[in-house]
Amino acid sequence: MEAKKCAGCWRTLPIEEFNFQNRAKNLRKNHCKLCRTRYYIAHLEERREYQRGYRLDNLEECRVRDASVRARRLRCEDTLTDGEWKSLLKSYDYRCAYDGAPFECIDHVRPLCMGGGNTRWNVVPACLRCNRLKGRNDWTDRLTDAFVVVEPSLAA
Ligand SMILES: [Zn+2]
Ligand SMILES: [Zn+2]
Repeated sequence: MEAKKCAGCWRTLPIEEFNFQNRAKNLRKNHCKLCRTRYYIAHLEERREYQRGYRLDNLEECRVRDASVRARRLRCEDTLTDGEWKSLLKSYDYRCAYDGAPFECIDHVRPLCMGGGNTRWNVVPACLRCNRLKGRNDWTDRLTDAFVVVEPSLAA
């Protein structure tokens, strides 16, 4: 039986206790599965804290980027910029465009999965409740008067 000494706990263990580093080359990692799991758990909180901190500092940029990733995955138009999103937020006074509650997310008026784009003309701030209730529906008629979303091509 093939065995290997772990660089973390120094135990000599059966080779199966080490994950592959590179399966094709039959290379195994230097730390056993248990050590790797322990390391992962020990640093989990730290990593979460870091990500949370980053998101808080750059929350709106992160939101725009998340929406952009989603749009591209669905092959939708994707032109929304951080600046456009922030000015939209301001024009809605940081409130949900459907019911005026404090906004919590980017809502695509015409859902991405229904061919809507991640564009300045198709996004509004929304609360999570509205976002969830709306689902795949188009709620254009429920938008508050604060701002009317019109495709530039349709406005002419
Ligand atoms: Zn170990
Ligand atoms: Zn709402």
